[in-house]
Amino acid sequence: MSKCKGYAATTARAPLGPYSFERREAREHDVVIDIKYCGICHSDIHQVRDEWSEYQEESIFPMVPGHEIAGIVSAVGSKASKYKVGDKVGVGCYVDSCRHCAECKQGLEQYCSVGTIWTYNGRDKEGAPTYGGYSERIVVDENYVLRMPQNLPLEACAPLLCAGITLYSPLKHWHAGPGKKVAIVGMGGLGHMGVKLAHALGSEVTVLSQTLSKKADGKKFGASHYYATSDPETFTKLAGSFDLIINTVSAKLDWNQYLDLLKLDGTMVIVGLPEKDIPVGGFSLTARRRSLAGSQIGGIGEIQEMLDFCGKHGIASDVEVIPMHKVNEAYERVLKSDVRYRFVIDMATL
Ligand code: NAP
Ligand code: ZN
Ligand code: ZN
Repeated sequence: MSKCKGYAATTARAPLGPYSFERREAREHDVVIDIKYCGICHSDIHQVRDEWSEYQEESIFPMVPGHEIAGIVSAVGSKASKYKVGDKVGVGCYVDSCRHCAECKQGLEQYCSVGTIWTYNGRDKEGAPTYGGYSERIVVDENYVLRMPQNLPLEACAPLLCAGITLYSPLKHWHAGPGKKVAIVGMGGLGHMGVKLAHALGSEVTVLSQTLSKKADGKKFGASHYYATSDPETFTKLAGSFDLIINTVSAKLDWNQYLDLLKLDGTMVIVGLPEKDIPVGGFSLTARRRSLAGSQIGGIGEIQEMLDFCGKHGIASDVEVIPMHKVNEAYERVLKSDVRYRFVIDMATL
């Protein structure tokens, strides 16, 4: 074990501050990564504030959040062959899984039926707590490490590891592409990646945001249409319009209102994870044989596919790089939807 510096919340809802902990030494198949940048995902805030306690077994404190990790390989284990010192790599929301259940065998490690090992607020195979990317270094099995696009700035690619894949996976699964009308609800970290990716996949993209304040950005990211959900007319005008709606909103919304915007056989996919349950009426679904679905990040193979797709199409996140000590302020700004469009921590400032 060796000492590692990071930032942690020592108890639920506590502000984050400097924290020192132990990381394992590299095992045979491990990669040691010097973390350069880590994105701030709204899931970090939900977990630090222990907002998912109804749905999760336990939250583990002290908690070192961070699962949009981009860095450079600084060492490799004796049998690790996929990466070499100096490679630009990334780590997303999980660092391991059982590797032999039906889901893992299909490359759906994020749905491992034995238990995906989360990058932080989880427990590794020995039962020790996992610590995330708001830290100087991480040690991860090479099979759970990703290769970052070579042609794009590393800081702008860090958010692809959660925000990017969380939108790419459902867009692919529900066949977003030419001839498909896709709506993205909420244009924050996840949502702005959804607009860029859905557009690059060839679909006609509409943004449904609380106000029109980010309309020019939405158009720049590739949206053809942009509507304010604070205007009740939006819901009458767009009724029955979309093949696919991806809902990224982190707060409670009336999902029935959004289901009414789907065409016959349309699907609304929930990726935002509000603290409380949201009721859905049967009629919202039966009326046009609609589906309500959910999706969680993506498998390792699919994350690599998404990173390669982003490299090829020149897609990265719009980021505001901040020093580590501004993390608590950044959390407050995310909560106020005052983020354009992802905060990324510069780990050199730790
Ligand atoms: P974010 O940057 O805060 O974006 C959320 C957006 O939702 C905001 O920018 C805002 O967009 C909209 N919004 C916020 N409060 C709202 C309200 N009260 N009513 C209506 N709209 C509201 O967060 P994020 O990092 O993108 O994450 C979004 C959610 O996805 C979080 O719950 C997070 O935990 C979850 N998540 C899920 C997965 C998964 O695998 N399923 C992965 C990562 C994150 P506008 O200003 O445009 O309205
Ligand atoms: Zn995330
Ligand atoms: Zn498994």
